Amino acid sequence: MTEATGIVGEFLSLKEETDADILTMQCGDFYEFFGDDAELVAEELDLKVSQKSSHGSSYPMAGVPVADLTPYVSALVERGYRVAVADQHETADGHAREITRVVTPGTHLETGDASAQYLAAVVRHSSRDGDDYGLAFADVTTGQFQVTQLDAADVGAVLTELYTFAPAEVLPGPDLRNDDDFLDRLAERSDAAVTLHASASFEPGRARHRVRQHFGAETLDSVGIADDDAAIAAAGAVLAYVEETGVGTLAAVTRLQAYGAREHVALDATTQRNLELTETMQGDKSGSLFDTVDHTVTAAGGRLLRRWLQRPRRDRGELQRRQAAVAALTREAMARETIRETLSGAYDLERLASRATSGTADGRDLRAAQETLALLPQVADAVAQTERLADSPLADALSGADREAAASLAADLDDALVSDPPGTVTQGDLFRYGYDDSLDAVIDDHEAALEWLETLPRREKDRTGITHLSVDRNKTDGYYIQVGKSETDSVPDEYEEIKTLKNSKRYTIPELDEKERAVLRLEERRHDMEYELFEDLRARVAEHAPLLQDVGRTLAEVDALASLAVHAVENDWSRPEVTDGDELAIDAGRHPVVEQTTEFVPNDLYMDRDRQFLVVTGPNMSGKSTYMRQAALITLLAQTGSFVPARAATVGVVDGIYTRVGALDELAQGRSTFMVEMQELSNILHSATEDSLVILDEVGRGTATFDGISIAWAAVEYISTRIRCKTLFATHYHELTSLGDSLDTVQNVHVAADESDGDVTFLRTVRDGPTNRSYGVHVADLAGVPEPVVERSQEVLDRLRDDKAIEVRGSTGEGGTTQAVFDLSSGQFATGGQNERVETDGNPDASTDGERGETLDAETEAVLEELRDLDVNETPPVELLAKVQEWQAELDGE
Ligand code: ADP
Ligand code: MG
Repeated sequence: MTEATGIVGEFLSLKEETDADILTMQCGDFYEFFGDDAELVAEELDLKVSQKSSHGSSYPMAGVPVADLTPYVSALVERGYRVAVADQHETADGHAREITRVVTPGTHLETGDASAQYLAAVVRHSSRDGDDYGLAFADVTTGQFQVTQLDAADVGAVLTELYTFAPAEVLPGPDLRNDDDFLDRLAERSDAAVTLHASASFEPGRARHRVRQHFGAETLDSVGIADDDAAIAAAGAVLAYVEETGVGTLAAVTRLQAYGAREHVALDATTQRNLELTETMQGDKSGSLFDTVDHTVTAAGGRLLRRWLQRPRRDRGELQRRQAAVAALTREAMARETIRETLSGAYDLERLASRATSGTADGRDLRAAQETLALLPQVADAVAQTERLADSPLADALSGADREAAASLAADLDDALVSDPPGTVTQGDLFRYGYDDSLDAVIDDHEAALEWLETLPRREKDRTGITHLSVDRNKTDGYYIQVGKSETDSVPDEYEEIKTLKNSKRYTIPELDEKERAVLRLEERRHDMEYELFEDLRARVAEHAPLLQDVGRTLAEVDALASLAVHAVENDWSRPEVTDGDELAIDAGRHPVVEQTTEFVPNDLYMDRDRQFLVVTGPNMSGKSTYMRQAALITLLAQTGSFVPARAATVGVVDGIYTRVGALDELAQGRSTFMVEMQELSNILHSATEDSLVILDEVGRGTATFDGISIAWAAVEYISTRIRCKTLFATHYHELTSLGDSLDTVQNVHVAADESDGDVTFLRTVRDGPTNRSYGVHVADLAGVPEPVVERSQEVLDRLRDDKAIEVRGSTGEGGTTQAVFDLSSGQFATGGQNERVETDGNPDASTDGERGETLDAETEAVLEELRDLDVNETPPVELLAKVQEWQAELDGE
């Protein structure tokens, strides 16, 4: 490409100025894209590309009308692009263009999605004591701004925060942007766009200055993060970025909230996924816990409830406050429904506050703000009039917002705006008559002129006797008098013909021309005046952004609490007792999601210091996973302030919930490998404390039996003797139940099944004590495994059980074979021929293979050979499935 000049040249030099992915530049009535940008946009958005010639070269060009820019930019930003917008403005000699804003995934105001949209900065400061991480999260659409610092933390904890907030855009600090491991893991866990923002804005001194400037000098002290340099660096960088992108919402970010990890229950990403908090394992929203319990009627209420579930609390005071409000709401059905009915008319005030401060709010937005502000007194009245609600913490929640200020702003807006304003702010019709005297005068003149025009046809018909006569207006002809063909002969002399149509002619008269000029003048005047008045009004609303946010959050809280009450009533949930103790006691508990679609069999659970580790056994599909998840979800709900699906429950506050599901269960989802399973186990063993709740579901399953059993065994010992947290451990190695004999705090429970005449009926009831068998053979039978194999498995199983031993075979480096026997009653290994048992029971090699030789045919041998050689960890799940099918076919003799 040769050096471009003219419009293309201007475009290209603006493009140099910005690090945005795409630039669009206003050229009169269009926003244009040139060159590569034009081609990219054309492809993404299905726009037409034309060629623009400029000084002998030709450039691709695509454009959209000025009025349509927003949806195009939104679509690009939603695809992860950062779009710079250059506007055109008048100057003394023509016009100039400059980049006025950069719209990015994290600063996108026009989002159509009601969920929170976070922009995050994450900073690492390394020192001898370890790595401190600072995190800041801003939602420019609502003005939320949250900051935290994780001292001497590992990157897993940071990724958990990022997973929980699910930011649309992340700004990694100088130290992290070159950390490939961090960036890879971030990409694995999140869809966030990663933006490398100027390192200088992360610089501690500069960041601190900016934060103080924005939130006030005392804020850092008052929220207790004055010494948290990493947190301040993150906060400063976010502020700088929002300011530089020019979305104009910085003013809506009115409050700095600092939160500490101590306040919340630790829930890492895997746990959130396993418990299906906001989406199911398959990635569907429907069927998640949030989807099940969400009865909110406003977008803001939904956002808040979701946050409560993702960030359960540890402090009992706050939990009891929420519980008491929910309890009162469950008992006042009438008032509750009145309140919800009222709330259903609410708009998203936090978002409206951001639109006001950014100058994008229109008349409808301000009307929406007015109508919503006016709901606060209504809700407050409904609460005040119901004694039980008035005496509950709900009343305190409502006093969080300044009711009088809200009422007065609502009244001001109501006085100003017509009841149904148009969607544009430049075409008038926004203000009520009586709002502004000079506007009223213009309106009077304008209306009088319009009235004159409206009555002109009647006057002219009377005067001329013409019957087919009308007055109309269009763009090219302005106002005109139209007369039907048949009567054009009778038009008076002063009618000046301007156009001939098929069936009529158009005329004008001097008075009409004059009135037309007056109307146009008045119209313009009126539009200008209204626009000016509107800007004033919008600025006044922007000044009240904190009030709008307060009222918005208050209404959201009432909505979320009422939603919890609705769910509790409809599903017969009860108020749990939340204590500082260690007890977790659930009387007739259910799984909150499964109970929606199943005739659920309730189950009890009791755990405390002396009974802190339960080994859960039972047949496949009997309900082990459900039982354990139910315990985790009841704990989580209790620490959200919610009622729980149980007849009664006592929940000792936990500091974290950790769940892991064995790789085999997850393989069905096509995600996990044994390696991941082990990483996750290791993570728990590092993170859990004695105040945590741990759920291990078939851990160790993703590998060959002997590794699996060994790892599971060691994990049980470590957790129950070292970490000593409440743990539920489901295993299909029912051999592990013997751990209950040797470890004090480990007890067995099993999900009962009824077995008679070889038929197994699942009772779904959990009982104390171990299962006496694994039912795996039964499942194999059900699955259609050929009879000889089923029978033979039963024999082998019986033998193993009698021996209370499992044979382990492995290769030594020299190519020889060693045998080991893992004695389940002692938990000890014995190797080689020195072992008594091996000798008395005979050489496993000889005995097993010998028998196999007699009873197994060649096909079965071949299948077993292949099975032995297959490396499970290296084979993709799909291939494994295909393999299994192939073997089945071979065994069936096909
Ligand atoms: P496991 O982990 O033992 O293989 P799951 O917990 O996955 O079994 O449960 C298997 C099936 O049984 C699930 O479809 C679940 O909906 C159902 N189920 C589990 N527990 C109950 C219960 N208490 N009442 C009714 N159905 C249950
Ligand atoms: Mg299971």
